[in-house]
Parts: sequence; structure tokens; C-alpha cells
Amino acid sequence: MSIRTHYCGELSAEHVGQTVTVAGWVDTRRVHSEHLAFVDVRDHTGVVQVVVDQKVDVRSEYVVAVTGLVRARPDGMINAELASGEIEIADTNVQILNEAEPPPFPMHDRNEVDENIRLRHRYVDLRRSKMQRNLRARAKVNSAIRGAMERQGFCEIETPMLIASTPEGARDFVVPSRLNPGDFYALPQSPQLFKQLTMVGGMDRYYQIARCLRDEDLRADRQFEFMQLDAEASFVDQEDVFEFISEAVADATEAVTGERPTDIPTMTWHEAQERFGSDKPDTRFGMELNDITDLFAETESNVFKTPVVKGIRMPGGADSLGRNAIDDLTDKAKRWGAKGLAWFRVRDEGLEGALTKFMSEAEISGVQERLEAESGDMVFLIADDRRVANKVLGLLRLELGKPPVNEGGFNFLWITDFPLFEAVVDGNPIPAHHPFTMPHADDIEMLTTATGDEWLDIRSQAYDLTLNGWELGSGSIRIFQRDVQAQIFELLGIGPDEQQAKFGFLLDAFRFGAPPHGGFAFGIDRLTALLVGEENIREVIAFPKTQSGSDPLTNAPSPIDPSQLDELGLRVVPRAD
Ligand code: ASP
Repeated sequence: MSIRTHYCGELSAEHVGQTVTVAGWVDTRRVHSEHLAFVDVRDHTGVVQVVVDQKVDVRSEYVVAVTGLVRARPDGMINAELASGEIEIADTNVQILNEAEPPPFPMHDRNEVDENIRLRHRYVDLRRSKMQRNLRARAKVNSAIRGAMERQGFCEIETPMLIASTPEGARDFVVPSRLNPGDFYALPQSPQLFKQLTMVGGMDRYYQIARCLRDEDLRADRQFEFMQLDAEASFVDQEDVFEFISEAVADATEAVTGERPTDIPTMTWHEAQERFGSDKPDTRFGMELNDITDLFAETESNVFKTPVVKGIRMPGGADSLGRNAIDDLTDKAKRWGAKGLAWFRVRDEGLEGALTKFMSEAEISGVQERLEAESGDMVFLIADDRRVANKVLGLLRLELGKPPVNEGGFNFLWITDFPLFEAVVDGNPIPAHHPFTMPHADDIEMLTTATGDEWLDIRSQAYDLTLNGWELGSGSIRIFQRDVQAQIFELLGIGPDEQQAKFGFLLDAFRFGAPPHGGFAFGIDRLTALLVGEENIREVIAFPKTQSGSDPLTNAPSPIDPSQLDELGLRVVPRAD
């Protein structure tokens, strides 16, 4: 039989007069007199006040079971912020189930505790209410996603962890093979190829809450290993994919926040670049980019004799931004690739700024009019080529206007028509998504005619889901014909031998009746973080790695035994440094 009769947070005025037993950790202790102390006992549902005889020596984080009588707190002692704030447990018998050393960090410190210390003692950190809330929110996300996918006819299939490499644009984590010394498995960057094979295998609708591993630099929104909802379906188009993924995302959002997003809008990649200077626009705020190139068609000034001139308006910026802040922004703009940053304060008399002396009256008033700038605003312009202008203004916009993570609601947005290639290196185009993405039907011809930068104009049937400026996930309609796939590999500089060695199994599968198919994957860590208002995905992961990729709790990564190395046929070359 359970030690407890009730959870701490569930006790309320309706239990007055009952004898109950709660069990948990000593949260805080207030000594009142020689014979009396008030102890808050905590479990994952909350805390309850327990009146104890001072003779019982309980300390912070001791594990206790307390039996006693629920009674109403005296008037004036009621704590309206607590579910159990109207009552306390008196006439208690306190049983110490386990003692505890003083916690390694203050459990109630409002200032953030050093992350290394938190992670080293993650089991203590997890007791804090924020971590309890975050992990339970994550569980709700998982459960809602499963429900939504099952309801829509998706079949859960587990794909292997020890595989040959799947290219997703990151480095692989590799695992040496003992039975075949010198050979290695790769850990999956995603289940991409297996999920496509399940489509060839007639599974029709696959999903998995999949662990993916990518050896890339860690950031606030990136860990070596992360979880994603991975899905694939046959005989579908892009709209079908949007529909079933939107359903899962809406269910998850509703499960955590109580609010259900409706009708997630779509925007083309091109429009996102032009209006927001980003492929993951944060649409919680305006400050959109304006193309005002035409105003400078006749310009006398070299500054504005550029392929494009674009600008943004910062409401109220004329007074809130001092000279130092502007210099700082100019430095940033240069670091992001701009030649300079043109800025103007908007006053009743019009634009003020060093560059006005190089501009005609019509240009000055045109800028103000087109950006709809009013007295007190600040205007920034970038004159450059289109890519640079969009990128720099996009970053500037975020710098100046981005709301805190937990404000402004949840602006989900589908971004469509991604370019097929993101760059051309040594004549070879580099895929923007992975190499299994179907080119846009209208641009297939260009695959045989494109040269130079024209490659970058070829669109694909790839799409992303974004939320408040974060990329939640990506997907695409896939290539399913062997010859098209081979052609794309060829374009990417992967010759026939390499194709056969790395992807022969996929090309083979395509010979045996592959249906048209497409899919998607989105990050569960990222979605959960945003839903609970956290900037950093480590706050929604039970046992994350630090930014430098280590685990202060278990000390991973760590050297292995020389005998293990022998068995694997490995020798470690000491680092030069
Ligand atoms: N495999 C892709 C990824 O993990 C998602 C997809 O294309 O379905 O990013």
C-alpha cells in the first residue's frame, strides 16, 4: 500500500477534519518557537504546510512521510497563492524516510544557478517546480502527438539506431564495430531513408517519435541528440502533409497551453525573405522590410547606386536609440556582410541623418512616405545586393524588435517553395534540404540548363514549419523515381560508384515499385520549449549536454578502457595540442 493517502497539492479546505498522510521532500522550514516549526512538504503536485514539534530535526530536502489532521489555517495566515493555502496539517507524526545533505544549490534562488552545477546534480534540479512543469509539459506534447498521428491512421514503426550514414547536413556520430574491426555504424541523423523504405514497403502512413543524433556545434536550440516527430505518407501532396502535421502540432499546443492554433498560414520562402529577411520569420511583430529601390532610380549618390535599397522603420526609435547603440548596430550590420548601415531619425521637419546631404528632396520625403515613418521613429536602410540587404535587415529587425520568448502568442507559419540548393561550391550545388527532395515541378527543366547562380533559383517541394522565429521542422515531397534520384546525386557531385556504395539500397528499392510519398519531421524539444516559454531547449530535456557537449552528471564523454580499444581494433592518436 502506498505510504501516502494524498498528494500535497491536492489538499484543500474540503479535507479539514480528515487524517491524512503526505510524503515528499522538506521544502522550507520556519522555526516559530522552541516547540513549534512550520515545514512545507513538497511533492510534484505542490507544497503543504505541516506543523511540527521542534524536537523533530528535519532539514531541507529530507524525505519524509507526515501523518496528521487537516485543519483550517487561522485567519490572516491564509496563503492565496497556494492550492493548499487555506489549510495545514497539525497533530503530526513525522517519519524521516531518508536524510539528505544540504542541496548543492539553493532550491528557491530567483537568480539562475550555474548550469554546470544544476546539471551535475540534475536529480535535485528536477525537483524544482519549473523543471517538473517543463518535463510534464513535454510528456503532454508526446502524448498529444501520438494521439493525433494514430487518429489519422499513422502506424508507429521503430527504425534502427545502428545504421549506415543518412545525410542531413551534419557530421555523423559513429560507433565502431567489434565484429568487423575498422568498420563503423553511424547513428541516425534522422530516420529519413528508413521511413522512405517503409513507404516502398506499403506501410502507407508511418510515424515515430524518433531520436536523432547530429554532431554539430551546440546552441540554445540545438543538442547532439534530439527528439522529433518523424512522419511519412504515400500518395500525398504538400497540402496533405500540412494537414496531418498541423493537427499534431495543434493538439500538442492545446494540451500544454489550453489554446488551439487554427489554420496555420503559409508563406513562400521568397516572400519570407523579401518581407522579413529570414526563412523563419518571427511574425509576432511588424517592422517588415520595404523595397524602395525605385526611389533611387535617378540617384546621384554612389551609396544608393546598388541593385536594391531596402529599409525598416523602428517605431519610437529616434529617441530610444543613442549614438552608441547606433554605432553598435552599424558594427553588427558590417559583421553580417553589409558595407554600411544608413540611419535616419524622423522628426517633425523630416529625416535627420548624415546621409541626407547626399539625397534629393524627393528621395528624402519618399523614404519617409514609403516606410510610413512618423516623427519619433527611426529608419534604417541597406543599399546592397538583394541577398545581403534582406539578410542584414532581417537580423537588424530581430535585434530591434524581437519580443521575449513568452510573449506575443504562438505564430506558427509554414514556409513553402524552398530553393533546392543553398549554395554552389566548386561548381557543385549544395542541397538546401537533403538530397531526396523533389524539385518543384515547374523548375525541373532548369536542372539541365542552369549555370552559376541560376542554380539558386531552382525551387524544391520542401517546406518548413516555423514558430515565433524558430525553425520547428522540415519536410518535403520526395523523389521516388530512380532516374531522377540518380540525376540529383550526379548534380550534387555524387558519381555512380559513390551513389551505389552509399545509397544503392535506396536506388534498388526505387526499382521495385516506389509510390509517390512525402513527409515531415519537427523537433519536440523546440516545440516544448516555446510552448512553456523557455529560450533554451536544455530546460525541457531531462538530462541534456552542456554547450560544450559534455554531461557533468556522468562525465561523458570519457576515455574507454585500453582493452575495449583493442577489441575494437582502435588506437587513439593523442591530440597535437
Ligand atoms: N529527415 C528530415 C529531417 O530530419 C525531415 C524530413 O525531410 O522529413 O530534418
